[in-house]
Amino acid sequence: MSQVSPLAVTPPTEAGIVIIGGGQAGGWAAKTLRDKGYSGVLTVVSDESYDFYERPPLSKAVLLDEGESVGLSRLFSADVVAGLDISWRRPIRAERILPDEQIVLLNSGERLAYSQLLIATGGTPRVPDSKWTNHPSVLTLRSWDNAIALKKRLRQCKTLAIVGGGWIGLEIAASARKLGVEVTVFERQDVLCQRSVGLEVSQALLKLHQSNGVQVHCACGDITLGEDKQGNALIGSGVTAEQAFDLAVVGIGVELNLSLARDAGLAMTSGIVVDANGRTSHPAIFAAGDVACHPHLGLCIQSWAYAQNQSIVAACSMLNTEAEGYDEPAWLWSDQYDANIQILGIPAAGTHCVERVDGASHLFIYLNADNQLVQMVAFNDGRAIKLGKRWLAANRTLDPAQLSDPGFSLMTLR
Ligand code: NAP
Repeated sequence: MSQVSPLAVTPPTEAGIVIIGGGQAGGWAAKTLRDKGYSGVLTVVSDESYDFYERPPLSKAVLLDEGESVGLSRLFSADVVAGLDISWRRPIRAERILPDEQIVLLNSGERLAYSQLLIATGGTPRVPDSKWTNHPSVLTLRSWDNAIALKKRLRQCKTLAIVGGGWIGLEIAASARKLGVEVTVFERQDVLCQRSVGLEVSQALLKLHQSNGVQVHCACGDITLGEDKQGNALIGSGVTAEQAFDLAVVGIGVELNLSLARDAGLAMTSGIVVDANGRTSHPAIFAAGDVACHPHLGLCIQSWAYAQNQSIVAACSMLNTEAEGYDEPAWLWSDQYDANIQILGIPAAGTHCVERVDGASHLFIYLNADNQLVQMVAFNDGRAIKLGKRWLAANRTLDPAQLSDPGFSLMTLR
């Protein structure tokens, strides 16, 4: 057997850890690496100029802010970020990973060596086709810059079309209604948020939005886009005639930024395959956040909680520190109008829904044939979600009659 020179695979001594992606996952990984004692070179490649920031306010507080009192919601204070001693490459894009050489090629022309690499590249808003990208009255929402552009346009807008009745679309719809804008939502599926919740919850979301004055067209068929002389968006669908809107926002999901991982030859399914410690199929490469398939569910969970907690685990694993593998159920929340909506778990076939209404709290509890929790959706009841996390962890068998009875205290099932 031929001897392989160690120099062929060992990166230069100054090579440290490189994180591609300056979002929630990249930020928490960087912070964790330093918190756990990593003192080597830490480089973050980000296509945005800003320090790590939170995305949830972008569709809510930022849009509703009349002045400029709601700024970038930083993940960590400026002092903390400075203390991380990050060697930033921003705004810069990574173009290719050369896994055998442990090099990342950047669009600046730089060849960045790494000892370990974390891919946390997130996603890019999807649009129906390229016509939507360049239309003067069509926006998407993912970044701070997108949010500022949308905030300004909403102030000049009377009629808004939202293409896509998923989480981003519904959150924008709620914000726009609060600003007095007429809102029409076009959703391709028969019901709202069809991929992430059951029928009963979709119906509750529909009712919530209709009662706040939103026109919702589900099963809308193919959406067409034109432009009138004033530059307004002319939007037609399978169920409505072409209509002019001052503004259209597209929220039809994201394309995960997977090309770097795919071209590097990493194992992939719908995202990058990782184990519970965030390790990809290459020993020096880890992945975190939206692009990393949930190790047990096999899905890409695009949520704030996953981006934060799974990346913390991945960062610990990069340092070989003791970290329990990532094993959290899917959990996300959304604020729409006065409702705080939390979703625990993912929908599954063969479940039945138990509803419980108790004052402002409205729970949708999906149980399997053995009456164990599969998914819980809570309107205005974060405490119930905490209980649900325990029930899921313990595979607890539940009594549907107790669950649906508002006179029965769920806290007795802690
Ligand atoms: P989403 O939740 O996947 O919803 C997009 C919806 O648009 C889907 O129902 C989709 O239907 C529909 N759609 C697709 N193509 C369409 C078309 N041509 N015309 C009309 N409807 C169409 O995606 P999103 O709302 O854009 O959000 C992007 C990501 O960010 C998601 O992963 C979401 O979970 C996440 N996010 C999370 C939060 C939160 O946690 N609160 C808030 C905002 C965003 P199909 O299923 O048929 O594609």
